[in-house]
Amino acid sequence: FTTIHSKGKGSAGTIAMLQDVTDQEKLEESRREFVANVSHELRTPLTTIKSYLEALEDGALEEPQVASKFVSVTRNETERMIRLVTDLLQLSRLDSKQAIISRELTDVSEMLEEVADRFSFQLEQRSIQIDIDVLPDVEEIVLDRDRIDQVLDNLVSNAIKYTADEGHIVIRAVRLDAKLLEISVQDNGIGIPKKDLSRIFERFYRVDKARSRNMGGTGLGLSIAREIVRAHGGTIALESDLGHGTKVTFTLPYLRDEEAAE
Ligand code: ADP
Repeated sequence: FTTIHSKGKGSAGTIAMLQDVTDQEKLEESRREFVANVSHELRTPLTTIKSYLEALEDGALEEPQVASKFVSVTRNETERMIRLVTDLLQLSRLDSKQAIISRELTDVSEMLEEVADRFSFQLEQRSIQIDIDVLPDVEEIVLDRDRIDQVLDNLVSNAIKYTADEGHIVIRAVRLDAKLLEISVQDNGIGIPKKDLSRIFERFYRVDKARSRNMGGTGLGLSIAREIVRAHGGTIALESDLGHGTKVTFTLPYLRDEEAAE
């Protein structure tokens, strides 16, 4: 389409129409890609489950130790499928703006301490240290607690997944100005190659598919985080240094009372 140089009457209209068509095609293409991804993501665990069930039928059931291992694999795969479908449903609600944001006044320190508590078992098992740093000028903020908890859970769970044992995670809250709170989750883990950074918030985009799946990931965590932050009127960004660590930062606006009531 860039080859259209005609300056004649009506050419602007033609170009605008072609532009519309390409936008439409892009949308169609990304829909097709999404459906293909979903199908593939569901098919992979189903195929695994099927082959383990067949192995059980074919005799593995007679060997209790083998059988119990196979059952546990099928169970893990089932749990991942449930997570995937739950994530997809949530994304679809956020997309269609059906998701109701129910805001409540929240103490930031308490919220961040509770995230760390939810992961305390995993953190301890892998000797990963977590520090929470809330600057003194951070005030209570009105937000949808369940949803922001999910953003934080996704970010902290990624930080843990992609950081080696004995690593270090820092969750920090800073007040940028009168209107904006900034929360960041930083790790000193494996990091992300530069070439992948621009696509990292896309649905199902992963640097290492096998690794993500092994870790129980769905490839949707960051996209869900972005949708939730956007629904709050904030922004989210990721910085990473391959081999050294990753930092995800999001902002949330401090709303005036009447805005919060909307
Ligand atoms: P997943 O379920 O695969 O973790 P996400 O949407 O949460 O899906 O993340 C997408 C991809 O971004 C991950 O597969 C991983 O490659 C990369 N990623 C996310 N967070 C981190 C992190 N803290 N360190 C390194 N890589 C990360």
